[in-house]
Amino acid sequence: MPFTLIHGIIGYLVARSFSKDPKLLALGFTAGVLPDLDGLPLLWGNISLFQEWHHGILHSPFTGMVLGLIFVLILAYFFKSQKKEFPAKLAFAIFVLAFTAHPVTDIFSSDWEINFGFPFTEWNLSSTILGIPDFPIAVNPFPLLIYTYNDLIISLATLFGFAGLVWKDRKKRKGL
Ligand SMILES: [Zn+2]
Repeated sequence: MPFTLIHGIIGYLVARSFSKDPKLLALGFTAGVLPDLDGLPLLWGNISLFQEWHHGILHSPFTGMVLGLIFVLILAYFFKSQKKEFPAKLAFAIFVLAFTAHPVTDIFSSDWEINFGFPFTEWNLSSTILGIPDFPIAVNPFPLLIYTYNDLIISLATLFGFAGLVWKDRKKRKGL
């Protein structure tokens, strides 16, 4: 269960592998963060609602498709009214992939089951169910952000990937 911001950066990286359009990069970031909206009850201290909602319907690729359709239709309408270009099909593909990358990442790094098959099956997945080894970090300097070694590996890989991309883009801008 990596930190929500890491999911956003993963969504950004998914979008960036298709396009450099800032609109699509922002969409990828947003789609990557969205599933964790089901963690909001935690912010107002409702632990039981959090336990009920988290890793539920918002962590399913089908929900990603529905939300992607809604987002892309609204954006397409908005950019059309502004007479601006908007690649709707690509935007939809990026949204669904960036959204789905979130629960997939969670499955690898969380023993909290994820309702991946919603609404068709009770296809609950987790690192434990799939037999993926994942160990809590005993002496943890970031207990609210990183829980396990898989969290740590995913977070570091994402940050290195992002930093590498920023570095590459900067070099290109300078014409090196
Ligand atoms: Zn999540």
